[in-house]
Amino acid sequence: MPLRPIYLDCHATTAVDERVLATMLPYFTQNFGNPSSISHIYGWEAEAAVKQTRSILADAINATPEEIVFTSGATEANNLAIKGVAEAYFQKGQHIITVATEHSAVLDPCNYLKTLGFKITILPVEKDGIINLNELEKALRPDTILVSVMAANNEIGVLQPLAEIGKLCRSQEIVFHTDAAQAIGKIPLDVQAMKIDLMSLTAHKVYGPKGIGALYVRRRNPRVQIAPQQHGGGHERGMRSGTLYTPQIVGFGKAVEIALEEQDTESDRLRQLTLLLWKQLSQLPGIHLNGHPTQRLAGNLNISVEKVDGSALLLGLQPVMAVSSGSACSSATTAPSHVLTALGHSEQLAYASVRFGIGRFNTQDEIDSVAEHFISTVQSLRKQTNFL
Ligand SMILES: *Cc1c(COP(=O)(O)O)cnc(C)c1O
Repeated sequence: MPLRPIYLDCHATTAVDERVLATMLPYFTQNFGNPSSISHIYGWEAEAAVKQTRSILADAINATPEEIVFTSGATEANNLAIKGVAEAYFQKGQHIITVATEHSAVLDPCNYLKTLGFKITILPVEKDGIINLNELEKALRPDTILVSVMAANNEIGVLQPLAEIGKLCRSQEIVFHTDAAQAIGKIPLDVQAMKIDLMSLTAHKVYGPKGIGALYVRRRNPRVQIAPQQHGGGHERGMRSGTLYTPQIVGFGKAVEIALEEQDTESDRLRQLTLLLWKQLSQLPGIHLNGHPTQRLAGNLNISVEKVDGSALLLGLQPVMAVSSGSACSSATTAPSHVLTALGHSEQLAYASVRFGIGRFNTQDEIDSVAEHFISTVQSLRKQTNFL
């Protein structure tokens, strides 16, 4: 097999950790029972495994196990949260607030609700990618039923001030949802301290399997209602029917358990690698860091490069590193990323951008080779073309 490029796209997905895979395997073949089967040991084993993950996830965010609803991932969790609140609270009001830099799995459900008559306010962000709390406060109305602001951005890694947003929403009795797909296992999350009512999670950004996620739904102080978006056997207390996918759920729990154990040391290590990469790349003239310099995920580096063509740059980098421009979901299109555009970049700068997602399996040697190749690629492209 030819040498494969160095993987630096950890915001798109991550490899399953071997330790996670090992815990999943018995649940495919031996302990394959349906967690809903209450009359035999196959069901009991599966139910116990699911229960364990529920506890791990609940502990990770300071919730209770009954507040965890398993879904197929963060996309489904976001849809369930946003459409579920819209349907449950529409008699109270029909106004929803979200942010321009959200993932499409938040923006698109909001846009869909707009076609049904809901009013959607999309808040801008400051140049550093963080929302302005005064703008949020001004946007709140008597008919606002939901505020949805992500924990950590999937492109620029920026962390939003969750505790301040939560406080504001709680004071006006507005449901607060956060998409924490990029945050779980990477930064501390506490639904009590941060006054979060709904939180979307996923396993595959944190070295767990794809196709499994969860929605935290607050049960008390206050109790939050969501209308189910998938009906059937009444699983997950009626909020999400469908046979639970035990092996993926077991893997999700193990992945989060490992990430929490290693969170402090691993974020220090990633921060150092990111800094090392930035130190080398920023020696190039005309290079900009996107997003807040410190309020960001430890493994994220998003840069814009002046005076090079974005697609030529990606093509030149491809043999050595797997990175992406914009977000993976939208990089099939040539439109500049909506996140970078929201920071106020010109089209050209937004287009010549690269997102590095450094993760658990990257080494310092890899970062050094990546930096070296990146610099030489930019230099040779700039020599070839007279980019204006
Ligand atoms: C990856 C991601 C999603 C989608 O999660 P899936 O589990 O792949 O559906 C949603 N929001 C953010 C911020 C993400 O990074």
